[in-house]
Amino acid sequence: MSNNQQLYKTKKLPEQMLAEFDTAARLKKLKAISVADYRSERGEVVAALLEKYATLHNNELCMGYAERLRACADRNNFYLGEDFVDKKTGELFSGFGTLFGCGLKLCQSCTARSAARNRAIALRAVKNTEPQNREHYCYITDGYIVEQERYRFVTLTMPEIFASFKTTLKIQKRAWDLFRKLKIVKNYFPAIIKSIEFTVRKNKTYHDHIHLLAISFFLPDELLKQAWTDCVRTAFEEFGIQFVAKQANANYKLVRNPTDMVKEVCKYITKTTTWDEIPPEQLIEIAEIERWDRLFEVSGRFRQTLARLKAEDAAADPSSSSNKKTTLKDNVARELNYFNTDGISDGELPETSESSENSEEISKKPRRENWRDTIRRDGLEKYLEKFYRQVEFAQKIRKLRLILKYPDAKFTDLDGRAWDLAELEKFALQIRLAADEIPH
Ligand SMILES: [Zn+2]
Repeated sequence: MSNNQQLYKTKKLPEQMLAEFDTAARLKKLKAISVADYRSERGEVVAALLEKYATLHNNELCMGYAERLRACADRNNFYLGEDFVDKKTGELFSGFGTLFGCGLKLCQSCTARSAARNRAIALRAVKNTEPQNREHYCYITDGYIVEQERYRFVTLTMPEIFASFKTTLKIQKRAWDLFRKLKIVKNYFPAIIKSIEFTVRKNKTYHDHIHLLAISFFLPDELLKQAWTDCVRTAFEEFGIQFVAKQANANYKLVRNPTDMVKEVCKYITKTTTWDEIPPEQLIEIAEIERWDRLFEVSGRFRQTLARLKAEDAAADPSSSSNKKTTLKDNVARELNYFNTDGISDGELPETSESSENSEEISKKPRRENWRDTIRRDGLEKYLEKFYRQVEFAQKIRKLRLILKYPDAKFTDLDGRAWDLAELEKFALQIRLAADEIPH
């Protein structure tokens, strides 16, 4: 049915339709504001909690964490935009976001942003990877069957342990490392997207689990459970915890439409309300984790797909080619980009070389100095001085980018204050001057 027919059928007067449209748009905007409000408030609360602890223990790193989180949760750091134009469909939409991103795991805005990014990566990988038409002799309990590759969704859980969030995560990581190196996993799972999720049980223990969206061959439930249980048992033992459960659980189901499952594998690490259930001292422990293991991972053939697409994009657009000589302009662009994406994942290993799936190899690369290093070297006071300037700079850059991308949109902060366009224009001129002044 075409749009016109629909309009005719509903027999609504144009004014009435317009009023309804207005209400829908207003409701959407109110919903955006309430989500932004919530994220801002949560950030403030967690920052205050951390600060209280940090002051008590004179812990500069924790104070730095609180300040970064607070800057991200600041109502000025949020933007609301109306009348964005979708370039493909021409439709108008409204939206909101943060200008500076702290990248911290306890930040509602930044974890939402990183989940969205993971979703985009996973979708790209899945949409461009078809299960291959190849036959495989698969174990069943009393022999073999011949099967082909299919999409499957797997959930791996661990028995309850009385340990902190950090320790639970470490044990899970160890079990996963053992599991993914098993011959059976290598043979049966040629392509894997992995993510980690957790909930808090009533007794305050953590229910950590792993989700996989994978291309795999058939494997009987019992064999999968056995393999995973062995890995979890070893991990428990290495951490001095007795494994008393009968087994660790592994769930395995066929997926008809893999793109629909992408959102299942790319949810937030936990529901937003979960953070309220974590005792403060454990929140602090989370804040103090400096190196997060990868929570989201793409491996095997999915990874090859992404590498191929990246190479194709580069070939189609020679200006983005990496072997081109970098110019001053590129350097400035990179600098601007750095502020834009700074700390999208605090301390998490970045996705680097496409061919290497080995974390040991990745860690050999020189590490970029992070905010914790700066506090350790220069002290908190000096760091914060620099940090506030960085935030202001990052916010202005982001505003300019948004204006360039959506020239017809109207922007305000979370309290409805319009942006100072004259000031932004002055800033744009200033950074252009600064770029020209950088010596060659
Ligand atoms: Zn943030």
